[in-house]
Amino acid sequence: MAAMSALAPWIAEQSRQLLVQRGHAWLLQGPSGLGQYSLGLGLVQAWLCEQPTEQGACGSCPSCHAIAVRTHADLCVLMPETVMLALGWPLDEKSQSDIDEKKRKPSKEIRIEAMRDAIEFAQRTSARGRGKAVLVYPAERMNHVTANALLKTLEEPPGDVRFVLASEAAHQLLPTIRSRCLAHGMVWPQEAQALPWLQQQGVAPADARTLLRAAGGRPEDALAFAGSGRDPQRWRSLPRAMQRGELTLVADWSPAQLIDALHKLCHDLLALGVGAAPRYFEAEDLPSPPPVPMLSRWQRELGQESRGAEHPFNTGLMIEALVSRAQTALN
Ligand SMILES: [Zn+2]
Repeated sequence: MAAMSALAPWIAEQSRQLLVQRGHAWLLQGPSGLGQYSLGLGLVQAWLCEQPTEQGACGSCPSCHAIAVRTHADLCVLMPETVMLALGWPLDEKSQSDIDEKKRKPSKEIRIEAMRDAIEFAQRTSARGRGKAVLVYPAERMNHVTANALLKTLEEPPGDVRFVLASEAAHQLLPTIRSRCLAHGMVWPQEAQALPWLQQQGVAPADARTLLRAAGGRPEDALAFAGSGRDPQRWRSLPRAMQRGELTLVADWSPAQLIDALHKLCHDLLALGVGAAPRYFEAEDLPSPPPVPMLSRWQRELGQESRGAEHPFNTGLMIEALVSRAQTALN
């Protein structure tokens, strides 16, 4: 049950602030892992709720129930199919059968067909009489055609529809889309809020701090790390294992996961090199930093590698090459 009380405390606080403001279109922006989806869903649920309070949706009325079971006639969620499936939202029948019959794969972008349905939805009369809501997430997964289709509806919204565009890369949105929305920058939670929340989600107390650091302070990314099957304590061993060129520690990671980890290692060593505190690793887990020009060159190379990481030619070889390069950089 997606009751408001289930929202993380820093999300609930933002929800309260946004609900007292008017505006037919919100743009929630910030880096991944800060809870854009949770806040977006909390807002639309509160708008459609039959007994909303200052805290947001009641969590128990028929409208809240309809959202919890993903069948609210006045809510349209606009997401890439991969995200719909991951978050448990049903696809339309045609798309589901095309995917089941392997005619195509679930799309990673928001499809123009789904956008057309959303625009049609916006024109219809509200079924429950409390207006309608459209939740777009992640909004940056609209291509130009899809975004332009939405733009017309944002510019001249039919009276009773409100929008939340939740984005993890708002700079990729069309400026014309951004300018039609009220922007809200997602708030970073304090460690003292994020650690208990992670433990409530089932993360072991011994791992919570490591994971939160590994995710750069973004709690939902930390939770995703916990769910990725990788042992959090390996994160702490990573810097010195890379220095020794040990492949076993990361042999089952994807190239993208390893490149992300090496980027963070490189960042922290650069920070140490100029006397700043590391962000992703504990200082005691880091080797002494190599010279800055060496680290800068490694950082640039990692940036180039990350472009090929989605479709590596040979995953095993790529991991080996990355570890070997890391060893050279760290010695
Ligand atoms: Zn309710």
